[in-house]
Amino acid sequence: MTQRRAEIVGAGFAGLAAACALAQRGWRVRVHERAERLRTTGAGIYIYENGLRVLEALGAYDEAVRGAPVAHTREVRDDRNRTLALHRWDPSIRVFAIVRQQVIDALAAAARRLGAEIVTASEGVAATPDGEVTFADGARTRADLVVAADGMNSKLRDSLGLLGRRTPLADGAIRMLIDTTEAERRATDIGKTTEYWSGSRRVLYTPCSAERIYVALTMLDRDAAARSVPLRRADWKASFPHLAELIGRLGDDGRYDRFELIKLKRWSAGRVAVIGDAAHALPPNIGQGGGCAMMNALSLAVFCARSADVPAALGAWERKERALTDHTQRISHFLGLPTTWPPALRAAFFTLAGRSKWMTKQRTMTARHVPTGTQAR
Ligand SMILES: Cc1cc2nc3c(=O)[nH]c(=O)nc-3n(C[C@H](O)[C@H](O)[C@H](O)COP(=O)(O)OP(=O)(O)OC[C@H]3O[C@@H](n4cnc5c(N)ncnc54)[C@H](O)[C@@H]3O)c2cc1C
Repeated sequence: MTQRRAEIVGAGFAGLAAACALAQRGWRVRVHERAERLRTTGAGIYIYENGLRVLEALGAYDEAVRGAPVAHTREVRDDRNRTLALHRWDPSIRVFAIVRQQVIDALAAAARRLGAEIVTASEGVAATPDGEVTFADGARTRADLVVAADGMNSKLRDSLGLLGRRTPLADGAIRMLIDTTEAERRATDIGKTTEYWSGSRRVLYTPCSAERIYVALTMLDRDAAARSVPLRRADWKASFPHLAELIGRLGDDGRYDRFELIKLKRWSAGRVAVIGDAAHALPPNIGQGGGCAMMNALSLAVFCARSADVPAALGAWERKERALTDHTQRISHFLGLPTTWPPALRAAFFTLAGRSKWMTKQRTMTARHVPTGTQAR
Protein backbone atom coordinates (compact mmCIF):
# COMPACT_ATOMS: atom_id res chain seq x y z
CA MET A 1 0.00 0.00 0.00
CA THR A 2 1.33 3.52 -0.76
CA GLN A 3 1.71 5.70 2.32
CA ARG A 4 -1.70 6.99 3.34
CA ARG A 5 -2.20 10.67 4.22
CA ALA A 6 -4.13 12.10 7.14
CA GLU A 7 -5.01 15.76 7.65
CA ILE A 8 -5.94 16.53 11.25
CA VAL A 9 -7.67 19.78 12.17
CA GLY A 10 -7.07 20.89 15.77
CA ALA A 11 -3.99 20.33 17.94
CA GLY A 12 -5.54 19.67 21.34
CA PHE A 13 -5.50 16.36 23.23
CA ALA A 14 -7.56 14.64 20.52
CA GLY A 15 -5.73 15.91 17.44
CA LEU A 16 -2.22 15.41 18.81
CA ALA A 17 -3.02 11.92 20.13
CA ALA A 18 -4.43 10.99 16.71
CA ALA A 19 -1.30 12.39 15.06
CA CYS A 20 0.96 10.17 17.19
CA ALA A 21 -1.19 7.06 16.76
CA LEU A 22 -1.53 7.41 12.98
CA ALA A 23 2.17 8.24 12.48
CA GLN A 24 3.06 5.16 14.55
CA ARG A 25 1.06 3.11 12.03
CA GLY A 26 2.87 4.47 8.99
CA TRP A 27 0.58 7.35 7.96
CA ARG A 28 1.92 10.66 6.65
CA VAL A 29 0.32 13.09 9.07
CA ARG A 30 -0.23 16.84 9.07
CA VAL A 31 -1.93 18.65 11.96
CA HIS A 32 -3.48 22.10 11.50
CA GLU A 33 -3.84 24.37 14.53
CA ARG A 34 -5.79 27.60 14.25
CA ALA A 35 -3.77 29.38 16.96
CA GLU A 36 -0.29 30.86 16.43
CA ARG A 37 1.13 28.51 19.08
CA LEU A 38 0.12 25.22 20.69
CA ARG A 39 -1.24 26.89 23.79
CA THR A 40 -3.98 25.57 26.01
CA THR A 41 -6.04 27.13 28.81
CA GLY A 42 -3.86 27.96 31.83
CA ALA A 43 -5.21 25.15 33.92
CA GLY A 44 -4.61 21.69 35.25
CA ILE A 45 -6.12 18.41 34.18
CA TYR A 46 -6.75 15.08 35.87
CA ILE A 47 -5.66 12.17 33.75
CA TYR A 48 -6.82 8.77 34.92
CA GLU A 49 -5.50 5.27 34.29
CA ASN A 50 -7.16 4.96 30.86
CA GLY A 51 -5.67 8.22 29.58
CA LEU A 52 -2.29 7.39 31.11
CA ARG A 53 -2.24 4.08 29.24
CA VAL A 54 -2.86 5.96 26.00
CA LEU A 55 -0.03 8.39 26.75
CA GLU A 56 2.24 5.38 27.36
CA ALA A 57 1.23 3.78 24.06
CA LEU A 58 1.94 7.05 22.24
CA GLY A 59 5.38 7.53 23.82
CA ALA A 60 4.34 10.73 25.61
CA TYR A 61 3.84 9.47 29.16
CA ASP A 62 7.17 10.28 30.86
CA GLU A 63 7.22 13.86 29.66
CA ALA A 64 3.50 14.36 30.32
CA VAL A 65 3.59 13.33 33.99
CA ARG A 66 7.05 14.65 34.93
CA GLY A 67 6.86 16.37 38.32
CA ALA A 68 3.09 15.91 38.58
CA PRO A 69 1.69 14.48 41.81
CA VAL A 70 -0.24 11.23 41.91
CA ALA A 71 -3.63 12.33 43.17
CA HIS A 72 -4.79 10.03 45.97
CA THR A 73 -7.40 11.85 48.04
CA ARG A 74 -10.27 14.24 47.45
CA GLU A 75 -11.71 16.07 50.40
CA VAL A 76 -15.07 17.83 50.22
CA ARG A 77 -15.70 20.71 52.65
CA ASP A 78 -18.80 22.79 53.35
CA ASP A 79 -19.24 26.56 53.66
CA ARG A 80 -18.04 26.44 57.26
CA ASN A 81 -14.93 24.55 56.23
CA ARG A 82 -16.08 21.29 57.82
CA THR A 83 -15.16 18.04 56.11
CA LEU A 84 -18.21 16.49 54.43
CA ALA A 85 -16.50 13.59 52.68
CA LEU A 86 -13.07 12.11 52.18
CA HIS A 87 -12.66 10.03 49.08
CA ARG A 88 -9.50 7.97 48.52
CA TRP A 89 -8.81 6.89 44.97
CA ASP A 90 -8.32 3.19 44.42
CA PRO A 91 -4.50 2.87 44.14
CA SER A 92 -4.90 0.41 41.25
CA ILE A 93 -6.34 3.28 39.17
CA ARG A 94 -3.58 5.85 38.70
CA VAL A 95 -4.61 9.51 38.58
CA PHE A 96 -2.28 12.43 37.99
CA ALA A 97 -3.11 16.13 38.30
CA ILE A 98 -0.99 17.82 35.64
CA VAL A 99 -0.48 21.28 34.17
CA ARG A 100 -2.35 21.03 30.83
CA GLN A 101 0.36 22.68 28.79
CA GLN A 102 2.81 19.99 29.85
CA VAL A 103 0.55 17.26 28.38
CA ILE A 104 0.06 19.20 25.13
CA ASP A 105 3.84 19.76 24.85
CA ALA A 106 4.52 16.07 25.51
CA LEU A 107 2.01 14.95 22.85
CA ALA A 108 3.32 17.49 20.32
CA ALA A 109 6.92 16.38 20.93
CA ALA A 110 5.94 12.71 20.52
CA ALA A 111 4.03 13.49 17.30
CA ARG A 112 7.03 15.35 15.83
CA ARG A 113 9.42 12.53 16.84
CA LEU A 114 7.14 10.17 14.92
CA GLY A 115 7.37 12.38 11.84
CA ALA A 116 4.07 14.30 12.00
CA GLU A 117 4.04 17.87 10.74
CA ILE A 118 2.27 20.49 12.87
CA VAL A 119 1.22 23.69 11.11
CA THR A 120 0.07 26.60 13.28
CA ALA A 121 -2.10 29.57 12.20
CA SER A 122 -3.98 27.17 9.91
CA GLU A 123 -7.74 27.16 10.42
CA GLY A 124 -9.90 24.44 8.91
CA VAL A 125 -13.42 25.56 8.04
CA ALA A 126 -15.07 22.66 6.23
CA ALA A 127 -14.63 19.10 5.03
CA THR A 128 -16.39 16.79 2.60
CA PRO A 129 -17.00 13.05 2.97
CA ASP A 130 -14.58 12.33 0.11
CA GLY A 131 -11.69 13.74 2.18
CA GLU A 132 -11.35 17.35 1.12
CA VAL A 133 -10.57 20.03 3.72
CA THR A 134 -11.02 23.75 3.14
CA PHE A 135 -9.07 26.31 5.15
CA ALA A 136 -9.93 29.87 6.19
CA ASP A 137 -7.50 31.29 3.59
CA GLY A 138 -9.35 29.43 0.82
CA ALA A 139 -6.72 26.70 0.37
CA ARG A 140 -7.93 23.13 -0.10
CA THR A 141 -6.31 19.76 0.34
CA ARG A 142 -7.37 16.14 0.03
CA ALA A 143 -6.43 13.15 2.17
CA ASP A 144 -7.24 9.48 2.70
CA LEU A 145 -8.45 10.40 6.19
CA VAL A 146 -9.54 13.74 7.66
CA VAL A 147 -9.74 14.03 11.44
CA ALA A 148 -11.91 16.79 12.86
CA ALA A 149 -10.42 17.45 16.31
CA ASP A 150 -11.35 21.12 16.41
CA GLY A 151 -13.09 21.18 19.78
CA MET A 152 -16.58 21.89 20.98
CA ASN A 153 -17.38 24.50 18.30
CA SER A 154 -16.08 22.27 15.50
CA LYS A 155 -16.52 23.88 12.10
CA LEU A 156 -15.68 20.65 10.29
CA ARG A 157 -18.35 18.68 12.16
CA ASP A 158 -20.96 21.33 11.45
CA SER A 159 -20.02 21.57 7.77
CA LEU A 160 -20.90 17.86 7.54
CA GLY A 161 -24.21 18.19 9.41
CA LEU A 162 -23.15 15.58 11.99
CA LEU A 163 -24.33 17.40 15.11
CA GLY A 164 -27.19 15.56 16.78
CA ARG A 165 -27.74 17.50 19.99
CA ARG A 166 -25.89 20.29 21.77
CA THR A 167 -27.08 20.94 25.33
CA PRO A 168 -25.75 23.85 27.39
CA LEU A 169 -25.70 22.77 31.04
CA ALA A 170 -26.66 24.73 34.15
CA ASP A 171 -23.09 25.21 35.36
CA GLY A 172 -19.63 26.25 34.25
CA ALA A 173 -16.14 27.00 35.57
CA ILE A 174 -13.38 29.57 35.67
CA ARG A 175 -9.96 27.93 35.59
CA MET A 176 -6.52 29.24 36.40
CA LEU A 177 -3.06 28.34 37.66
CA ILE A 178 -1.30 30.08 40.51
CA ASP A 179 2.21 29.77 41.95
CA THR A 180 2.66 27.84 45.17
CA THR A 181 3.69 29.74 48.27
CA GLU A 182 6.69 28.74 50.38
CA ALA A 183 4.32 27.13 52.90
CA GLU A 184 2.59 25.12 50.17
CA ARG A 185 5.97 24.05 48.78
CA ARG A 186 6.91 22.74 52.22
CA ALA A 187 3.65 20.79 52.57
CA THR A 188 4.40 17.15 51.95
CA ASP A 189 0.96 16.09 50.72
CA ILE A 190 0.52 17.51 47.23
CA GLY A 191 -1.59 14.51 46.18
CA LYS A 192 -4.70 15.86 47.89
CA THR A 193 -7.43 17.80 46.10
CA THR A 194 -9.81 19.89 48.17
CA GLU A 195 -13.26 20.86 47.04
CA TYR A 196 -14.91 23.69 49.00
CA TRP A 197 -18.64 24.31 48.59
CA SER A 198 -20.71 27.36 49.44
CA GLY A 199 -24.26 27.29 48.11
CA SER A 200 -23.90 26.40 44.43
CA ARG A 201 -20.38 27.87 44.23
CA ARG A 202 -17.33 25.69 44.53
CA VAL A 203 -13.56 26.16 44.76
CA LEU A 204 -11.48 23.21 43.63
CA TYR A 205 -7.87 23.36 44.82
CA THR A 206 -5.43 20.96 43.14
CA PRO A 207 -1.64 21.01 43.35
CA CYS A 208 -0.27 20.13 39.88
CA SER A 209 3.45 20.25 40.61
CA ALA A 210 5.78 21.59 43.30
CA GLU A 211 5.38 25.05 41.71
CA ARG A 212 1.82 25.29 40.43
CA ILE A 213 -1.68 25.00 41.90
CA TYR A 214 -4.72 24.53 39.68
CA VAL A 215 -7.78 26.41 40.94
CA ALA A 216 -11.18 25.85 39.37
CA LEU A 217 -14.15 27.93 40.48
CA THR A 218 -17.46 26.42 39.49
CA MET A 219 -20.84 28.08 39.61
CA LEU A 220 -24.27 28.14 38.00
CA ASP A 221 -24.24 29.86 34.65
CA ARG A 222 -27.02 32.17 35.86
CA ASP A 223 -24.76 33.37 38.72
CA ALA A 224 -23.40 36.30 36.69
CA ALA A 225 -21.37 37.73 39.59
CA ALA A 226 -19.54 34.44 40.17
CA ARG A 227 -18.72 33.78 36.54
CA SER A 228 -17.48 37.25 35.70
CA VAL A 229 -13.88 37.61 34.53
CA PRO A 230 -11.88 39.50 35.77
CA LEU A 231 -12.83 37.78 38.96
CA ARG A 232 -14.98 39.58 41.54
CA ARG A 233 -12.75 38.62 44.43
CA ALA A 234 -14.81 40.40 47.10
CA ASP A 235 -17.84 38.43 46.02
CA TRP A 236 -15.96 35.13 46.16
CA LYS A 237 -14.42 36.02 49.53
CA ALA A 238 -17.92 36.69 50.88
CA SER A 239 -18.89 33.14 49.89
CA PHE A 240 -15.64 31.64 51.21
CA PRO A 241 -14.31 33.84 54.05
CA HIS A 242 -11.99 31.00 55.15
CA LEU A 243 -10.35 31.08 51.68
CA ALA A 244 -9.77 34.85 51.57
CA GLU A 245 -5.99 34.47 51.30
CA LEU A 246 -6.24 31.99 48.42
CA ILE A 247 -8.85 34.07 46.56
CA GLY A 248 -6.64 37.13 46.98
CA ARG A 249 -3.90 35.30 45.06
CA LEU A 250 -6.08 34.51 42.04
CA GLY A 251 -5.18 36.49 38.94
CA ASP A 252 -7.35 38.11 36.28
CA ASP A 253 -6.34 35.69 33.55
CA GLY A 254 -8.96 33.02 34.31
CA ARG A 255 -11.28 31.78 31.62
CA TYR A 256 -14.97 30.94 31.97
CA ASP A 257 -16.43 27.95 30.13
CA ARG A 258 -20.03 26.82 30.36
CA PHE A 259 -20.32 23.05 30.44
CA GLU A 260 -22.00 21.39 27.48
CA LEU A 261 -23.06 17.98 26.28
CA ILE A 262 -22.54 17.21 22.61
CA LYS A 263 -23.96 14.17 20.84
CA LEU A 264 -23.41 13.36 17.19
CA LYS A 265 -25.68 11.52 14.78
CA ARG A 266 -22.56 9.63 13.68
CA TRP A 267 -18.88 9.97 14.50
CA SER A 268 -17.88 9.99 10.84
CA ALA A 269 -18.98 10.90 7.32
CA GLY A 270 -17.13 9.08 4.57
CA ARG A 271 -13.40 9.69 5.13
CA VAL A 272 -13.90 12.26 7.90
CA ALA A 273 -13.79 11.18 11.56
CA VAL A 274 -14.80 13.49 14.40
CA ILE A 275 -13.02 13.05 17.74
CA GLY A 276 -12.66 14.70 21.15
CA ASP A 277 -14.95 17.49 22.33
CA ALA A 278 -16.10 18.01 18.74
CA ALA A 279 -17.73 14.58 18.94
CA HIS A 280 -18.66 14.18 22.58
CA ALA A 281 -18.06 17.18 24.88
CA LEU A 282 -19.12 16.38 28.43
CA PRO A 283 -19.11 18.16 31.78
CA PRO A 284 -15.90 17.61 33.76
CA ASN A 285 -17.48 15.91 36.78
CA ILE A 286 -15.45 12.74 36.41
CA GLY A 287 -12.46 14.29 34.60
CA GLN A 288 -12.75 12.17 31.46
CA GLY A 289 -13.18 14.55 28.51
CA GLY A 290 -9.47 14.50 27.73
CA GLY A 291 -9.25 10.78 28.55
CA CYS A 292 -12.05 9.91 26.09
CA ALA A 293 -10.54 12.24 23.48
CA MET A 294 -7.19 10.42 23.64
CA MET A 295 -8.72 6.92 23.81
CA ASN A 296 -10.87 7.55 20.74
CA ALA A 297 -7.93 9.06 18.87
CA LEU A 298 -5.81 5.96 19.46
CA SER A 299 -8.59 3.49 18.68
CA LEU A 300 -9.37 5.42 15.47
CA ALA A 301 -5.81 4.76 14.27
CA VAL A 302 -6.01 1.08 15.31
CA PHE A 303 -9.21 0.55 13.28
CA CYS A 304 -7.86 2.45 10.25
CA ALA A 305 -4.73 0.28 10.30
CA ARG A 306 -6.90 -2.84 10.00
CA SER A 307 -8.55 -1.94 6.70
CA ALA A 308 -7.73 -0.13 3.48
CA ASP A 309 -11.37 0.96 3.33
CA VAL A 310 -11.39 4.10 5.50
CA PRO A 311 -15.18 4.71 5.64
CA ALA A 312 -15.76 1.07 6.63
CA ALA A 313 -13.00 1.27 9.27
CA LEU A 314 -14.59 4.39 10.73
CA GLY A 315 -17.97 2.67 10.97
CA ALA A 316 -16.42 -0.30 12.79
CA TRP A 317 -14.50 2.07 15.09
CA GLU A 318 -17.69 3.85 16.20
CA ARG A 319 -19.60 0.59 16.69
CA LYS A 320 -16.87 -0.70 19.03
CA GLU A 321 -15.90 2.45 20.93
CA ARG A 322 -18.93 4.67 21.22
CA ALA A 323 -20.81 2.84 23.99
CA LEU A 324 -18.14 3.63 26.61
CA THR A 325 -18.05 7.30 25.64
CA ASP A 326 -21.87 7.46 25.80
CA HIS A 327 -21.72 5.91 29.28
CA THR A 328 -19.06 8.42 30.34
CA GLN A 329 -21.22 11.31 29.17
CA ARG A 330 -24.29 9.96 30.98
CA ILE A 331 -22.57 9.40 34.31
CA SER A 332 -20.70 12.69 34.20
CA HIS A 333 -23.90 14.57 33.42
CA PHE A 334 -25.77 12.74 36.19
CA LEU A 335 -23.11 13.58 38.80
CA GLY A 336 -23.45 17.27 37.91
CA LEU A 337 -27.19 17.42 38.53
CA PRO A 338 -26.89 17.96 42.33
CA THR A 339 -25.11 21.29 41.69
CA THR A 340 -28.54 22.91 41.47
CA TRP A 341 -29.92 21.17 44.58
CA PRO A 342 -30.09 22.63 48.11
CA PRO A 343 -26.76 22.03 49.95
CA ALA A 344 -28.19 19.51 52.47
CA LEU A 345 -29.73 17.35 49.76
CA ARG A 346 -26.56 17.58 47.69
CA ALA A 347 -24.39 16.52 50.64
CA ALA A 348 -26.70 13.56 51.32
CA PHE A 349 -26.52 12.54 47.66
CA PHE A 350 -22.71 12.61 47.56
CA THR A 351 -22.48 10.69 50.83
CA LEU A 352 -24.75 7.97 49.47
CA ALA A 353 -23.09 7.96 46.05
CA GLY A 354 -19.69 7.60 47.76
CA ARG A 355 -20.89 4.54 49.69
CA SER A 356 -22.70 2.84 46.82
CA LYS A 357 -20.64 0.09 45.17
CA TRP A 358 -22.85 0.25 42.09
CA MET A 359 -22.33 4.00 41.72
CA THR A 360 -18.57 3.68 42.23
CA LYS A 361 -18.47 1.03 39.51
CA GLN A 362 -20.37 3.29 37.09
CA ARG A 363 -18.21 6.31 37.95
CA THR A 364 -14.90 4.51 37.52
CA MET A 365 -15.82 2.33 34.51
CA THR A 366 -14.00 4.62 32.06
CA ALA A 367 -10.89 4.91 34.22
CA ARG A 368 -10.73 1.11 34.58
CA HIS A 369 -11.20 0.45 30.87
CA VAL A 370 -8.18 -0.89 28.98
CA PRO A 371 -8.22 1.28 25.85
CA THR A 372 -7.98 -0.29 22.39
CA GLY A 373 -4.35 -0.13 21.30
CA THR A 374 -2.90 -0.33 24.83
CA GLN A 375 -1.64 -3.29 26.79
CA ALA A 376 -3.38 -4.72 29.85
CA ARG A 377 -0.96 -4.34 32.78
C1 LIG B 1 -13.57 23.22 33.57
C2 LIG B 1 -13.13 22.00 32.82
C3 LIG B 1 -12.36 21.05 33.48
C4 LIG B 1 -11.96 19.89 32.80
N1 LIG B 1 -11.23 18.95 33.48
C5 LIG B 1 -10.86 17.81 32.84
C6 LIG B 1 -10.08 16.83 33.53
O1 LIG B 1 -9.70 17.02 34.70
N2 LIG B 1 -9.75 15.69 32.87
C7 LIG B 1 -10.12 15.47 31.57
O2 LIG B 1 -9.78 14.42 30.98
N3 LIG B 1 -10.87 16.39 30.89
C8 LIG B 1 -11.23 17.55 31.50
N4 LIG B 1 -11.96 18.49 30.82
C9 LIG B 1 -12.35 18.22 29.42
C10 LIG B 1 -11.18 18.46 28.47
O3 LIG B 1 -10.64 19.74 28.66
C11 LIG B 1 -11.62 18.30 27.03
O4 LIG B 1 -12.39 17.15 26.89
C12 LIG B 1 -10.42 18.25 26.10
O5 LIG B 1 -9.73 19.47 26.13
C13 LIG B 1 -10.88 17.94 24.69
O6 LIG B 1 -9.76 17.95 23.84
P1 LIG B 1 -9.96 18.28 22.29
O7 LIG B 1 -8.60 18.14 21.68
O8 LIG B 1 -11.08 17.50 21.75
O9 LIG B 1 -10.46 19.79 22.23
P2 LIG B 1 -9.71 21.12 22.63
O10 LIG B 1 -8.92 20.93 23.86
O11 LIG B 1 -10.76 22.19 22.61
O12 LIG B 1 -8.67 21.38 21.44
C14 LIG B 1 -9.12 21.77 20.16
C15 LIG B 1 -7.94 22.40 19.43
O13 LIG B 1 -8.34 22.73 18.10
C16 LIG B 1 -8.03 24.07 17.80
N5 LIG B 1 -9.04 24.52 16.84
C17 LIG B 1 -10.33 24.86 17.09
N6 LIG B 1 -10.96 25.17 15.95
C18 LIG B 1 -10.05 25.00 14.95
C19 LIG B 1 -10.12 25.14 13.53
N7 LIG B 1 -11.26 25.52 12.94
N8 LIG B 1 -9.01 24.87 12.80
C20 LIG B 1 -7.84 24.48 13.42
N9 LIG B 1 -7.73 24.35 14.76
C21 LIG B 1 -8.83 24.59 15.52
C22 LIG B 1 -8.08 24.79 19.14
O14 LIG B 1 -7.32 25.98 19.11
C23 LIG B 1 -7.49 23.72 20.07
O15 LIG B 1 -6.08 23.76 20.06
C24 LIG B 1 -12.35 19.68 31.45
C25 LIG B 1 -13.11 20.64 30.78
C26 LIG B 1 -13.51 21.80 31.46
C27 LIG B 1 -14.33 22.83 30.72
